Parts: sequence; structure tokens; C-alpha cells
Amino acid sequence: MMNTTHAAMGVTLAAPLTALAPEFAPIGALAGFLGGAFPDLDLLSGQHRQTLHFPAYYSAAAIAAVTAALLAPGLGTVGVALFFVSAAVHCISDAAGGGLELRPWKATDDRGVYVHPAGHWVRARRWIRYDGAPEDLLLASAFSLPGLVLFDGVVRQLTIGALAVSVVYVAVRKRLPDLETRYLR
Ligand SMILES: [Zn+2]
Repeated sequence: MMNTTHAAMGVTLAAPLTALAPEFAPIGALAGFLGGAFPDLDLLSGQHRQTLHFPAYYSAAAIAAVTAALLAPGLGTVGVALFFVSAAVHCISDAAGGGLELRPWKATDDRGVYVHPAGHWVRARRWIRYDGAPEDLLLASAFSLPGLVLFDGVVRQLTIGALAVSVVYVAVRKRLPDLETRYLR
């Protein structure tokens, strides 16, 4: 799944706050956006979907952080909670996408996401065939609705920006491996 899909999922996770605790909704949405985007920083260095992807550890941190936020609601605790919930959802949902191959639409690699305590890769299910697939854009659009409708200010602007990036990414996705091999390797 695209990084922007994960970021939009993070904002969606914060959507209930607009009804339950509106004062925490903007910080929750921002933290959700960042937590959704964060794990993919391992694209820049290290092994993608292993170095900064922690489905088990983020989930454990999320349970602790949500408990803390419920016991002592505040901007800090709510922000940390949404960050970890979103990062955990990102890592778990990566297993629903494609593998780690350069051209994931060819389905030649089975690595979905690495689970550190278990010491192995979870298989890529390919329900979303690859990052930047048309169905991925559909998912990103659906998860962008809360950011567009329920939020304003920075959250809405980030959502619009991410959606624009998604559209361009999906349009050029299948040309990226050629560019990458030509200029980056
Ligand atoms: Zn990821």
C-alpha cells in the first residue's frame, strides 16, 4: 500500500475523536498521519518493511499508549497513542499488499512485513495487488474522506496534499522501476 494510504488511515483512526473528545481530534489526526507515514522511512536506508516496521512491538506500544491516554487524557498522551496505533495498523496492513520486488505487480516476492519477535516474514496477501495499484488509490480516497470532511486546517491540507501525491504516484507507478534502475543504481 502507498505511504499516503497509511497516512490517511491514521487520520481515519482519529476520526472518532471529533465526536468523543473534539479538543484532542486535531492532534490525534496529525499524530495518526505521522504514525502512518513513519515506518516507510526505512525505504531511505535499511531493509524496507523490516528496519522500521514493527507489527508486534508497535501493537504492544499502542495498547500501553491507549491505556495511558484513557487514564490521563491530554494532548501528549493522545498524540502518542494515535501515533503508535497508526504505525501498528500500517505494519499489519502491509501484509495485505504486494511483496518487496522492484515490480510488485509481477508477484515474484512473498515478503509482506517482518515480525521481529517471531523472526520471520509474514506472507504478502496481495489483496491490494501492489502499492500504487488502482485499488490502492480507491482505498486512499476512501480513507481521505474523514480528513476532508471532519477536519479543517492542517489536517485537511495534509489530506489534500497526500491525495494529490497518490494520484500522481498511481499514474507513474509502473514507470518507476525503469527510472530507478537507470538513475539510482
Ligand atoms: Zn510499510
